Amino acid sequence: MEVSPFYEKKMQCLQCKEHFPTTRIRSRQVRVAQHDSDFRPIYVNKEINPLFYNVTVCPHCGFASTDDFSPYFAPGTKEMIAQNITAKWHSRSFGGIRTKEEAIEAYKLAYLSANLKKEKHLTMAGMMLRIAWIFREAENETEEKRYLTISRNLYVHAFSEGDYVGTQMSETRVQYMIAELSWRIHDREEAIRNFSRVIESQKRSTEPNIIQLAKDRWQEIRGEETNE
Ligand SMILES: [Zn+2]
Repeated sequence: MEVSPFYEKKMQCLQCKEHFPTTRIRSRQVRVAQHDSDFRPIYVNKEINPLFYNVTVCPHCGFASTDDFSPYFAPGTKEMIAQNITAKWHSRSFGGIRTKEEAIEAYKLAYLSANLKKEKHLTMAGMMLRIAWIFREAENETEEKRYLTISRNLYVHAFSEGDYVGTQMSETRVQYMIAELSWRIHDREEAIRNFSRVIESQKRSTEPNIIQLAKDRWQEIRGEETNE
């Protein structure tokens, strides 16, 4: 018998403390065929996109979050969320199977919640990147570039404020993301500056894969220059 890739996870809202179920994907059933150069996973099974299920939306108060959110609320932020989200919220559920549009809306809600809650720029950058990936899969280049730009700018903030410290993202990786997203949005100057920083860091970096990706891109950039 085939096990459904979906399951219901019981959640408790960080904001209002209500309990509700959210739909998740069994990670054992997810196979990644390859990754794009900005780490977008390309799944073997095109029917189900696990990226659609990273965000949990509370049907009671509208607060939306991912597993990267911290449980801590800075003073005043709960009130800001109540005024700006809950006061305008018409109860609706994001449970069950999500369409592409619902997934994007869930990420936008999580971005709004993160902003009011003053989550790390790194967390917000990751959410905007996932919206860009959803548009890439849908071959909507205009929207993809729009969200890549927002994400890139958030990674720049995350880098300058050092808010990646203590997360799974290393300094090299954040710089690589700035470089790679800049390259994809045709901000050549910023791309070159950051790829060279990544390559310069190779002696102290513990991420040979990232260094190699940056070197590959560097060659490509140099190749284009010779062709001009
Ligand atoms: Zn809630």
